[in-house]
Formats: sequence, structure tokens, C-alpha cells
Amino acid sequence: MSILFVFSLFLLLNVPKSCIAEKDYEFFMLAQQWPKGYCNRMGVQCKSRPNKFTIHGLWPQGLNGQLLTNCDASSSLSHDDIKTVEKQLYSNWPSLIGRDFDFWSSEWKKHGTCSEKEFSKLEYFETALHNHAQNDLMGILKRANIVPNKKQLYNISSVVAAVHQHTQHQPHLVCYFDALRNVSALYEIGICYEEDGKSYKNCLDPHGTCYGTELIYPK
Ligand code: 5GP
Repeated sequence: MSILFVFSLFLLLNVPKSCIAEKDYEFFMLAQQWPKGYCNRMGVQCKSRPNKFTIHGLWPQGLNGQLLTNCDASSSLSHDDIKTVEKQLYSNWPSLIGRDFDFWSSEWKKHGTCSEKEFSKLEYFETALHNHAQNDLMGILKRANIVPNKKQLYNISSVVAAVHQHTQHQPHLVCYFDALRNVSALYEIGICYEEDGKSYKNCLDPHGTCYGTELIYPK
């Protein structure tokens, strides 16, 4: 064994653990919110209500879907970091209730920092925008004759199947409980990706928080 090799080994073994690039997440979920559903669920007058699914966030997840949050308190988003995609963010990642930049900034802090070693700030927002553009959920559901309607009940499995038809993978549905109609109401759909943020992956729990067999897709 050469002296150089032994010396390198010694250095490697003595590097603090925090300096070795470790994979800190297992996969991503892109959460897209259905504005009408989100505003109903929150019981607020939203400042805008686009007629399409918009981005809620791109969330690095740990083993078994464990939510990872606030991985680097020192990392803050600035306008400069995302100036090349800001226009696209306004249209596809708006805050329905507050200031757009504050929403992006809090999503970065809470979620984006957990994949920061692999995705820079700009790459993180570009990845979310790209994946959102590849998955126009309103169009995907429409192709399966699932359209927003105040009263129509849709089979939860048929909503899952419609997204599966497009991605070949299981999504993750999120509902609130509509007490007036006594039924689950859709307000978010998650699509999962491998750690590269590109290849689809099955989400762990397709029906998510949509209880029962049917849901409404609020209009
Ligand atoms: P998360 O659900 O990612 O953990 O947190 C979202 C945070 O962003 C909440 O504090 C929420 O109030 C704020 N926020 C601002 N605008 C929006 C919006 O349009 N949708 C959602 N889901 N949260 C928003």
C-alpha cells in the first residue's frame, strides 16, 4: 500500500459526516392544487382562482414517504435566484391566498432545502415547472370525462386510473370532507418521481385522504 493511499484513507475517515454528500431524500412528490377545492377547503375568498391545477410544491420525501422539512435554515430564496423563471411561476405556481414570492420562498425553505445538494434553487423551480407542464391534470381528467361539477360523484378509483393512464404510475389524491354533501372533495393531486426528479414513480397511497368510494371534483 502506498503512503499516499494510506494518507488519503486517513483523510477520508476523518472528514466530518456533514461534509460527505449523503442522499437526504428518496423520491419527490409534485403536489398540484385544484384552486376551487383548495379555496373551499380553506373557507376563504382566494385572491385568484385559476381554472387549472397549479403547483403547490415539489416535496422531497424520505423513506416510506416520511416528510422531510426545513433541512437548511440558512438557505433563503431571493428574486435573483429565480428571475429567469419568475414569469412562469406567476402563472403556474401562484399563491391563491397570499403573496406569490412568499409562497415560493416558504416552499423552498420548508421543502426545497431538503434536496438542495442535488438541485440548486433554480433547478428546483425549473423541475417543478417542467413536471407541471408535462402533467396538465385538468386535461388528463377531462380525457376520462372527469370534469368539475358541483354535484356529480366520481369513483375515486377512476380518478386514480385517469392519472395512471397518463403517467403509468399511481398518483396520490388529497381530499377534504364536504360536510354539506357528506362526501370527499378533491383539492390536490400528487405525482411522484424518482430521486432524479424526472422518472415517474408510484406514490405510496393512491387514495390518500379521499375516504369512501366516490368524490366530488368541485366547480
Ligand atoms: P405546505 O402545505 O407546503 O406545508 O405549506 C404551505 C404554506 O404556504 C402555508 O403556510 C400556506 O398558508 C402558504 N400558502 C400560500 N399560498 C398558498 C397556496 O396557494 N396554497 C397552499 N397550499 N398554501 C399556500
